[in-house]
Amino acid sequence: MHVSIVGSGYVGTTVAAAFADAGHRVTAIDIDPAVVEGLNAGESPIEEPGVGALIAEYGGEELIATTEFGRAAGSELTLVAVPTPTGPDGAIDASYVASAVESLDAVVDDEHVIAIKSTVVPDALRTEIAPLVDGPTLATNPEFLREGTALEDFRNPHKLVFGADESAERAYDLLAELYAPIRRATEAEPAVIRTGRDAAMLIKYANNAFLASKISLINDIGNIAKQHGIDAYEIADAIGTDPRISDQFLRSGVGYGGSCFPKDIKSIINSATEQGYEPLMLEATTELNDRQPERLLELFDQYVDPEGEQVAVLGLAFKPGTDDTRNSRAIPVIEGLDARGADVVGYDPVATLDGHDIEHADTAAEALAGAHGALVVTDWDEFAALDEEFDRMAEPVVVDGRRIVERREGITYEGLTW
Ligand code: NAD
Repeated sequence: MHVSIVGSGYVGTTVAAAFADAGHRVTAIDIDPAVVEGLNAGESPIEEPGVGALIAEYGGEELIATTEFGRAAGSELTLVAVPTPTGPDGAIDASYVASAVESLDAVVDDEHVIAIKSTVVPDALRTEIAPLVDGPTLATNPEFLREGTALEDFRNPHKLVFGADESAERAYDLLAELYAPIRRATEAEPAVIRTGRDAAMLIKYANNAFLASKISLINDIGNIAKQHGIDAYEIADAIGTDPRISDQFLRSGVGYGGSCFPKDIKSIINSATEQGYEPLMLEATTELNDRQPERLLELFDQYVDPEGEQVAVLGLAFKPGTDDTRNSRAIPVIEGLDARGADVVGYDPVATLDGHDIEHADTAAEALAGAHGALVVTDWDEFAALDEEFDRMAEPVVVDGRRIVERREGITYEGLTW
């Protein structure tokens, strides 16, 4: 099959690489000429395990990148995977999707199916996107992959969600054909959900709302456990044996970040509120998440007055396995340290954080040497192996937001919820 994919970011590049590897011909369309040039030279614009090797193999061959939307005309189906950020009030900014859809609508024929993979609230889809499509079929195909394990997730989906209203059978058939090689290659057969265009998107929001709320709930319980001097992970291990709860997403700590959970929860809250419903649970989920970094800083305050001192922040990426720092919990932690007058030295194995008042160290050892305390924000495996590096700290206080460093002699160790 020949498929076009608009947007070559974390989602678009992973999906393009996986489909090329699955035997499809892929046209990747992006407005950024540097991204396009890189892809055609076999260089991935994103850091994701396994993706770089596939782009090196297929880039410029089975996967051809371009800035020209007209090239989508040669394919039957186009997936749109461009950003859907939120404004300060949480309202979704659907303008990237609108612009991509408008450009596509001008070049593809009426047989073409445009499937939105970007996460868009149903009302924006109805009022801002659907009116731009005149002829082709507009469908939705939300994505559930996680950064850090994007390729593996995409190749082993729990579910495939196909949303369409007009010409639904044709849209479902094309999407089914697109995913057929993925389904054949995966061990566990995914659920295939054929539903309406808006319902497919609401499935995506409900999925993220559940997972984000599960994190905030275990953080709430974790904060209570800490009040009693009880290890929240012991509690989580016990309740996780109940299949109704499951042991997934039960690691309490400094909260969720990234480009999806924070913005998706905010946009669905905003969308519901605009239409007269206040989603109390989701508001609490967001508020609790926003407070966790401040709790980490308050723990730190009990041991260190960081004014004028060097403080280490370990981990800048929003989670291990990615270089993505969007909405990383490191950001409020660094802002809090800045407000306290600290000189922040950050270290991350792959990520850098631009636009913030920090110095980047090349190694964890360098960040820790001479530091008056360290705050751990991302659970990169290498932080678990740190040992003698702590001996070089001026004040060996480690406040861990991810339970990755082990409590040990010679350092003052505080876990956020344990
Ligand atoms: P990203 O920011 O990593 O990449 C977006 C790409 O789109 C960039 O390369 C940019 O140059 C390009 N672009 C922007 N406007 C364009 C336009 N008009 N035409 C063509 N290209 C354009 O974004 P992402 O993280 O891949 O997210 C894309 C969408 O997928 C978002 O709606 C997001 O919510 C959703 N999503 C993301 C994830 C994730 O883990 N990142 C998971 C599931 C769903």
